[in-house]
Formats: sequence, structure tokens, C-alpha cells
Amino acid sequence: AQKSEPSVSVDGHGSKGTSERVVVLVIGGGGREHALCYALQRSPSCDAVFCAPGNAGISNSGNATCIPDLDISDSSAVVSFCRKWSVGLVVVGPEAPLVSGLANDLVEAGIPTFGPSAEAAALEGSKNFMKSICDKYGIPTAKYQTFSDASAAKQYIKEQGAPIVIKADGLAAGKGVIVAMTLEEAYEAVDSMLVEGIFGSAGCQVIVEEFLEGEEASFFALVDGENAIPLESAQDHKRVGDGDTGPNTGGMGAYSPAPVLTKELQSLVMESIILPTVKGMSAEGCKFVGVLYAGLMIEKKSGLPKLIEYNVRFGDPECQVLMVRLESDLAKVLLAACKGELDGVSLNWSPGSAMVVVMASKGYPGSYEKGTVIQNLEEAELVAPSVKIFHAGTALDSDGSFIATGGRVLGITAKGRDLEEARDRAYQAVEEINWPEGFYRRDIGWRALPQKQFATNA
Ligand code: AMP
Repeated sequence: AQKSEPSVSVDGHGSKGTSERVVVLVIGGGGREHALCYALQRSPSCDAVFCAPGNAGISNSGNATCIPDLDISDSSAVVSFCRKWSVGLVVVGPEAPLVSGLANDLVEAGIPTFGPSAEAAALEGSKNFMKSICDKYGIPTAKYQTFSDASAAKQYIKEQGAPIVIKADGLAAGKGVIVAMTLEEAYEAVDSMLVEGIFGSAGCQVIVEEFLEGEEASFFALVDGENAIPLESAQDHKRVGDGDTGPNTGGMGAYSPAPVLTKELQSLVMESIILPTVKGMSAEGCKFVGVLYAGLMIEKKSGLPKLIEYNVRFGDPECQVLMVRLESDLAKVLLAACKGELDGVSLNWSPGSAMVVVMASKGYPGSYEKGTVIQNLEEAELVAPSVKIFHAGTALDSDGSFIATGGRVLGITAKGRDLEEARDRAYQAVEEINWPEGFYRRDIGWRALPQKQFATNA
């Protein structure tokens, strides 16, 4: 056996013809993928879970067998692995492998894959493409124009006035959006993208967009190419600091359900945004299979949802709260999505609420120290009922202790009868963790909980 040979006992392996249980491979190695592995492992239709590359916490928790040596940017290596281990479902977590066509190659090899093709992933990979789909299929979004010439962009900005929003067309590591409060700021953003080229080819086209005012919300749906089913609502916290201050991050915490998305709004988002997109993509000849994650603005003046952006995968903290609440058989549902059989499927969720508090290395999203020791994780998981810790950036030291290897490092989740109980449990566990070089936001859930309840935590 090679060094990288995973040691796993695959129950039912080799008898797939008679068994409906599948071996699943999750692609990625963050908190989102840990949460997916956790839900898949509980899934009655799942035989065994692999995660590539995975991380130390995922393997240590026993939620999946990690394959750190599998190069997920090499489609043929992933296909070979799937054939060797009779993988019957691949779930792709991050956007980068999707945009570069991993799902195309897996589907072509006959391996059911939950995640869109490169063409469909352009909904996230190109804002200009996303906007053109909105135009063509009447999906409500901010008014915009696309430019590759700086002076034409500035002329348009001058006509529209500030505040106004400037966006790089392509993927720019979450930094490609400038909400400009003044004309000068907007001109600067145009120059930095179109003249200085700070985002390279991702910024050689810019979208200049109407500024929308209101409350932001995230909406997730599972899509099978033609049909879509909504997931429970969830709300993340993108800014690094308490009170939504400081720079944007990959998410510092989340809760589910999110009261901002009432049942009426959820239906409206399905009818006016998600379903027209799914039908439109199908009509364009690039069916979307995977998670459609809509970033919305619930406009202050109308109360109606408008699409700000699409992501073609789960949000990281939102996935963690959704997966601890999901009671349905995840592998079965995702397989149904791959086969175009989501019509009529509904999902079961635990009642009450869930929260995740993200712990990150001090300095994140800027530079931070790596290799700092984290202690008391096992104790923290036992400190209150329903606590589950997902790992995003950890490794095991030679003496067996966990060390931090990334910016966002842990997701401490808990469920409760209501959001207050979920929050109290999550923070109780956070406080049990001994990691002096880590930090966390103390106000996760503030929009949904009365302010005064944070007095003791502030
Ligand atoms: P995006 O990467 O497109 O989600 O944009 C990042 C953030 O910029 C969003 O979460 C919003 O806070 C803000 N934003 C983007 N587009 C608009 C808009 N048209 N109006 C107001 N804020 C926006």
C-alpha cells in the first residue's frame, strides 16, 4: 500500500448494486466541509465519508477519513480516487474548483457530483454574467452598467451620483466590491481596477451599480438543474469586529433561523429570484446543480428583496448552523439533486435555533501568527448540551495538541430551544477553550436578539 492509502472500512463496499448507500467524497478542508462531513456521516444513505484535503480536526473527530495528499486541482487524480473507492457522490465545498471545472470532469466520468459546472459557476465567477441573466429573465437586482474603459465608467458615475457601488467582474478574494460614498472614492476604485489592474484579469471589467439601502440577508436553495428547494434561513456576520465594524471576513458567526427572512419573503425570493434563475440557466443550456446562495438586500423603501450577488456554494458559517439543524438524510437529498429528482422533496429541520461563533487567529483578516496551541477543545464540547466544534484551520502537533494554521480556525456551534439558549451554549463553550492567540466576536446574533442581552458579554 502507498503512504497515502486511506485506512477506512467501507461498509457495503463492492456491493453497490444491492445497496442504496453511497461512499461520499467531500472536496475542501474548512469549517463548511467539516459540517458537511458531520451531516453526511449521520446520513442513513451514506456508507463512508472521505474528505480531501480535509484537516486535522475533521479526521480527529472521526466525521470523515481525510485524504490530505489528493490534489483537488487535478481532476484526473480526483476521478481515479473516486473509481478506486467506488465513490458514488462527490460534494464540492469551495468555489475555486467549481469555477475551474472539477464538476464538469467528474460528471463526464459518470460520477454524481453536487456542485455546478464551470459554465454554471459563472453566476459567482463573473458578476457581469450574473447581471446579464438577471436582465434577460427579469430578476430584481440593482441597476447597473459594465465598463472596461475608465473614462466611460467615470462619466456614468458622474451622471448617477454617489453613493454608488463599483465591482470587479471576476473573483477577487472577497475584496472586489467598493461601496463608494463619494464620487472621488468611486473614481479611485475605477482607476485601481481598470488602470492599475489591482485584481488582474478579474478586474479588467467593472460593474458600476446602484447603491441599495436596506437589510442584507442570505438565502440558500438546493438546485437539481430544473427544480429548487429552499433551505432554512441563516444569517452570517461578515465584519471582523463587534457591532459589524472593521474589514470583511469569510464570516465570524451565524445563526439559523434568521427572523429577517419571514416565510412570505422566502416564498417571494423563491418565486422572483431563485426559480427564474434556475429556469434561465437551463434555457441558456447551462443547468445549475448545487447550492445557489443568494446575497439579498431587503430594500428599505419597498420591503422587497433584490439580488446583490450569487455564490455557487454554501457560505461557511451558515453551512455550519444549517448542518447541525438538518434532520433529513443529506446524502439522499444531494443524490436526488444530482439526478434531477428534487421535485417534491422537502427537508426536516430541528426546531429551535442554532448558532456558530467563529474563533480566529488574532490579526485576521490581516496577518497573524501560525502554530499557536489550542487547548480544552474536548472539555468545551462537553460544557453544554448540543455543542459541536467544527475545525477550519487546525493541525495536530507532534505531541498531539491542536495548533492553529489559518485565519478562521474553529466554528463553535450549539443548538437551543431558541436563539438565546443556542447563543448561551455556544459562548459557554467558547469561553472554555484555552487559546490566548485567538479571538471571536461577542455579539453574534445581535440583530435577532435584544441588545441588552449582550451587556454581560461586552
Ligand atoms: P458582494 O461581494 O457583491 O456581496 O458585495 C459585498 C458587500 O458589498 C455586500 O455584502 C453589501 O454589503 C455591499 N454591496 C454590494 N452591492 C451593493 C449594492 N448594490 N448596494 C449596497 N451595498 C452593496
